Amino acid sequence: MAKRKKINSTTEAEIMFKADRKCCVCNELGHHIHHIDGNNSNNEFDNLALLCFICHDNASSFGNLGKKLSANTIKKYRNHQYAVIEAQRSSMLQTPTRTINKVNDTDLFNAALSAGILLEIVKIEDSYFKASWNKKDEILDELSKHYDFSTYRISAYVIEFLLKASNSTRHGMPYSVASKIHSLIICYFPPINGKDSKQKVYDLGKVVLNIGFNMAYDAFIKLDNYYLAANGVSIFKIAYKEAKRTKNVKLINEVYKRYEELESTLNRPERKDLISAIELVKIFKADIDKGTLAYPILPEPLYTKFISDREK
Ligand SMILES: [Zn+2]
Repeated sequence: MAKRKKINSTTEAEIMFKADRKCCVCNELGHHIHHIDGNNSNNEFDNLALLCFICHDNASSFGNLGKKLSANTIKKYRNHQYAVIEAQRSSMLQTPTRTINKVNDTDLFNAALSAGILLEIVKIEDSYFKASWNKKDEILDELSKHYDFSTYRISAYVIEFLLKASNSTRHGMPYSVASKIHSLIICYFPPINGKDSKQKVYDLGKVVLNIGFNMAYDAFIKLDNYYLAANGVSIFKIAYKEAKRTKNVKLINEVYKRYEELESTLNRPERKDLISAIELVKIFKADIDKGTLAYPILPEPLYTKFISDREK
């Protein structure tokens, strides 16, 4: 078999985003990018699918009766998964269509303004993904100019973009970029106007939670950087604050679900180093009702580790 080639970071982030970090077969958290044809150097997009530990195991025992997942089956699951996630995302962007009888020039001006802002944001997104890490925080700064005029659609677009960005945390996202993402979420969530239905705020809140989860997961598991991870975990709090304020029970429950998911994914017998990561998540979770976005006080030796990771 050919020598394994590393999947490039853009392809990896694209897969994570399209799969929403879920295993395409069972919809649990995905951990492995699987080579469908069994050739580890075939990194074509179509040959890759995200799988969890168990499904990866079921797909990998070659020439053996134990192999329960064929290449074709995985492809079917994967294509279906991408289509479903894409449909969910585009339905999130849709607002109910209203028939407009009278349009005045203020309405027209606002519509033109929104279109102009969306175009700007598309340009910013494009340059963000082309830039090197040390340029990305400056590019993100451009986004904060637009939030005064933000609508639900604009907020949703920005937050989707930040979700894509969060999928590259594992490739060495510096704290300056992570903290900018954190502050942009505070700008754009909840969307301005506050007239959006609970369902819409829930949809967007879920994406916010995904961003926090991606950052925390990558920072704990791939980068061993607790300072960066704490930035991710504290994004949960932004969603929680809004959920509490508007008594959005569905979103409150979702926040707790994501904390639990993070704890359980860090709970790995082979990774003794993650025991203190679980401790950190638990402390942040216990602090959630405080109403402030400040970090909770950490006990030693967690605090020392936290502070030394700040220098990474
Ligand atoms: Zn699975």
